[in-house]
Amino acid sequence: MADKKGNSKNNRRRNNGDEDYNPKFRKIRKKVCVMCANKDFVLDYKNADQLKKFVNEKGKILPRRATGACAKHQRDITLAVKRARTIAVLPFTQN
Ligand SMILES: [Zn+2]
Repeated sequence: MADKKGNSKNNRRRNNGDEDYNPKFRKIRKKVCVMCANKDFVLDYKNADQLKKFVNEKGKILPRRATGACAKHQRDITLAVKRARTIAVLPFTQN
């Protein structure tokens, strides 16, 4: 069995001083939920500028992997965006 550690072809590391760099497991910066991190961040369904951060250009609600919100706050975001749509603060769709 060949030793995979000696495989120079797959050992194309970015020379940033990180010895444990593995291209298969790229370092993912753990996103912190904005509402957990910032306790005085109040989600307001009437605040379009705030809610625009949680929808894409089509008006769709971004998934948790994009917003970085925790499960509890993602539910709050969803609710706030849906409320905002019904009162015409946010569009249901664009283009
Ligand atoms: Zn949270």
